[in-house]
Amino acid sequence: MAERAVRSLRTRLLAWYVGTSLLVLATVGVAVCWVTWQSRVSAVDAELRVQARRVSGAVRARPGGAFDVELPSDATAYFQQARPRTYYAVWTIRGRLVDQSRPDLGLPAAPVSGARTRGASREVIVGDGELTVLVGRQIDDVREELWSLAGTMALAGTGAMALALLCAWLVASRALAPVQRISETARRMAGGELSARVAVDRTESELGQVADALNLAFDRLHEALERQSRFTADASHELRTPVAMLSAEVDWVLMRERSAAEYREALEACSRVAARMRGLVQSLLILARADSGELSVSRERVRLDLVIDQAVESLRQLSLDRCVRVESAMMPVTVEGDSERLLQLVTNLVLNAVVYSPPDGLVRVALTLEGNEATVRVTDRGIGIEADDLPRIFDRFYRCTSARTCEPGGAGLGLAIAKWIVDAHHGAIACTSEPGCGTEFVVRLPAHQAAGRVPGTGPPPPAPGERAVQGLSRV
Ligand code: ADP
Repeated sequence: MAERAVRSLRTRLLAWYVGTSLLVLATVGVAVCWVTWQSRVSAVDAELRVQARRVSGAVRARPGGAFDVELPSDATAYFQQARPRTYYAVWTIRGRLVDQSRPDLGLPAAPVSGARTRGASREVIVGDGELTVLVGRQIDDVREELWSLAGTMALAGTGAMALALLCAWLVASRALAPVQRISETARRMAGGELSARVAVDRTESELGQVADALNLAFDRLHEALERQSRFTADASHELRTPVAMLSAEVDWVLMRERSAAEYREALEACSRVAARMRGLVQSLLILARADSGELSVSRERVRLDLVIDQAVESLRQLSLDRCVRVESAMMPVTVEGDSERLLQLVTNLVLNAVVYSPPDGLVRVALTLEGNEATVRVTDRGIGIEADDLPRIFDRFYRCTSARTCEPGGAGLGLAIAKWIVDAHHGAIACTSEPGCGTEFVVRLPAHQAAGRVPGTGPPPPAPGERAVQGLSRV
C-alpha cells in the first residue's frame, strides 16, 4: 500500500513537472519564433525600402504628363529574379498608374504609405509628394526558414524533455524512497513489530529529520508499551501471592468444622491479607491514573510541618511495635500543593525508614527552609541500600534483595509513588545510603512562605487559607 501511495505521488510529481516544462518550452519556442519572424520581416522591409528609393529615383517626368522609368541594371536584375519573386508599381499622386514590373500584380489603386503583408508577399509603399512607389517581395523563403526553425526547436525540445523526464523520474524515485521506507516501517510497527526503525543513515536531508523524529516516537511508544506490559505482569505477580494465601486460608478453614477461636484466627489472617491487597490495589490505581494523566494534584497552601506531624503520628503504633524511635525537628514551612499527596509522600518515606530500621533504631525527620526550598530529610540507621540498587529504588516493583526479608514486606511501589508526587509538585527527591549504616532521603519542594520560627518550639496554628491535614490515606 505504501508502495502504491509513493508510486501515485511520483506519477503526480512527474505529471506536474512535465506539464510545467512543456508550458515553459512552448512559451520559449513561440517567443523565439516570433522574435525571429519580426527581425526577418524588418530586414525584408529595409531591403524593399532601398529598392523603392531606387525605383523612385529612376522615374523621369516627360512633357505632356508622361513618365519614363529607367532602372539601373542591378535594380532591373533585382526585379527580374525568379525567387523570391519581386515586383514594383508606381502611381502619380492622383492615383494614375505610371508603371508596374508585372501585369498580374492585382493592384487596382495606389495604397497608403507604409508596410504590409499581402497574401504570401511583403510590400513597402513609399510616397515622395509626386509619386507613390510600391515594392513587393514574396516571403515564402522567410516562412520556410521559420518553419524549419520551429521544427528544429520542437525536435530539440522533445529530446531535452525526454532526457529531463528520465532525470526527473530517477530523482523522484530517489527522493521518495525514504518516504516509502518510513511508511513501510510505520506499517511494520502498527503490525506489532515494535523494534522496527527507519534506517536514518540512508535517509537524506529533511526526511532524515522526519525519520529521526519518528524513530524517537517509536522508541517512546515501544518503551511505553513495554512498561505497560511489565507493569501488568508485575502487578499480577504481586497480587498472586495474597490471593493464594487467602485461598489457602479459606480452604484450610473449610476442610472441617472449626472452633470459634480457629474461625476468628483464620478471619483475622484473611483480613490482614485483604488489607495488604487493598494497599497494593490502591497503589496500582494511583500509578495507573497518574500514567493516564487522570490524577491531578490540587494547588493549595499547605503547612508541610503539620503534614509531617500527621504522618509521624499515623506511624506511631508501628514504630512502637518495632521499637523504633521517630524524632522530628521542623520549621513551620508552607508549600503550595496537595495536602493528601504530600501526606502520602512523607508517610511512604517515614514508613520505609521505620520498616528498614533494626529494633531500637532511630529515625529522624527534619524540615527546614533552605533558600526558597522546603527541605524534608528522613534519616535512619537501618539496613541501608547497596550502591547498585540506589539508581533503581524509584522504579516500580523494585525491591532490594536486602529488603525482601523485612516485614511487613511492601510491593516496591512506595518510592515510585513518592517520586511521582515530588515531580507533580515540581520538586526533587534524592537518596544517599550506606549499607549497614543507614539511609537518608532528601525531598526539596518550592516553598510558599516561612513563618520564621525556630525548630522545636511547636508549630503555630495554620494561617488563614492554609490547610491542616485531616486524615491519612496510607498506601
Ligand atoms: P517497598 O514497599 O518495598 O518498601 P518502596 O518503593 O518504598 O517499596 O522501596 C523500594 C525499595 O527501596 C525497598 O524495597 C527497599 O529495598 C529500598 N528502600 C527504600 N527505603 C529504604 C530505607 N529507608 N532503607 C533501606 N532500604 C530502603
